[in-house]
Amino acid sequence: MARPPPGPVTTATTTTATTEVLVIGGGYAGVMAANRLTQRADVSVTLINPRPDFVDRIRLHQLVGGSHDAVVEYGEVLAGRVRLVVDTVTRIDAAARRLNLASGGSLGYDHLIYAVGNGSAEPEVPGAAEFAYPIATLEEAQRLRPVVETAPASAPVTVVGAGPTGLETAAELAEEGRAVTLVCGGVLGPYLHPRGRRSVTGRLASLGVTVVDGPGTSVTAVTARSVRLADGRELPSDVTVWTAGFGVPDLARRSGLSTGGGGGALPSARDRVCVGLGPGRWSDVVGRMLSAGYRRLDAVGVVLDPGSPH
Ligand SMILES: Cc1cc2nc3c(=O)[nH]c(=O)nc-3n(C[C@H](O)[C@H](O)[C@H](O)COP(=O)(O)OP(=O)(O)OC[C@H]3O[C@@H](n4cnc5c(N)ncnc54)[C@H](O)[C@@H]3O)c2cc1C
Repeated sequence: MARPPPGPVTTATTTTATTEVLVIGGGYAGVMAANRLTQRADVSVTLINPRPDFVDRIRLHQLVGGSHDAVVEYGEVLAGRVRLVVDTVTRIDAAARRLNLASGGSLGYDHLIYAVGNGSAEPEVPGAAEFAYPIATLEEAQRLRPVVETAPASAPVTVVGAGPTGLETAAELAEEGRAVTLVCGGVLGPYLHPRGRRSVTGRLASLGVTVVDGPGTSVTAVTARSVRLADGRELPSDVTVWTAGFGVPDLARRSGLSTGGGGGALPSARDRVCVGLGPGRWSDVVGRMLSAGYRRLDAVGVVLDPGSPH
């Protein structure tokens, strides 16, 4: 769908009856929030995202495996009334209700939705930053793809981390015929019910994935050709995929907003900041926000998290 080009990036905070909502981050949470807000005729919604396309992050392991490109045009997912600004927010000035952009411009707002998602945490394990490949972002997955593609079919591939991303990545690469070892660093899928864990273990076994789990299976070092475990074992690994640990962008902290323990922004009615909570919960939240009783946007912080400071 054709989209009007982004308007000038410097706008005054609205003085008309229209409420200006800025959404930082065009992932699942930001897109869903922006789309839902267009149900309000008196709200003008602008979404700011560094890339001109939507990244379908839950398919990044498929990009690595070569079965999907994990990118969708915003025209396919974003409501027509949402204005897209392709840029990166470098600072939030909550007092002035204004965002600074990497391009040098700024945007004013009445209300802000903070939906910047997460990315890879800097791994502390020696050699991991140098030799292992994270896949939390499009760029990281794109960097890994040719490495997998050019490795011989028999090359040992190790996936470190047995959370949802590690499990999906191990299964995807095994389906592509790779010789995959999944290093769990403890229990496989700690978040799973024992029955679910048995089912996933059976599926991985049927795909030929070697699962290394239990005590002593934390990775203590990564080299160009191996992965070392806490129990002293050294596993051969030509390609090591790192899925053990995510971190959040520090935009909120840098901007002096209230943040939680992990560094993500906390919702604040005072600062008129609303927080994207990821795909599942977000639509419920915006739905409630738009429902009777919560029609005023400045109630958003309260709706999102009644226990948070505001
Ligand atoms: C390989 C993989 C598989 C996954 N599989 C699943 C799954 O099967 N099911 C599931 O529920 N979850 C899955 N996840 C997790 C899921 O992708 C995340 O929970 C989800 O992407 C979070 O959505 P979000 O909108 O909060 O953030 P994101 O989707 O990360 O979007 C955040 C957006 O904000 C932008 N942004 C960041 N900083 C700025 C800034 N300063 N200025 C402007 N824009 C900015 C980013 O570029 C990005 O576009 C998977 C993740 C990975 C990596």
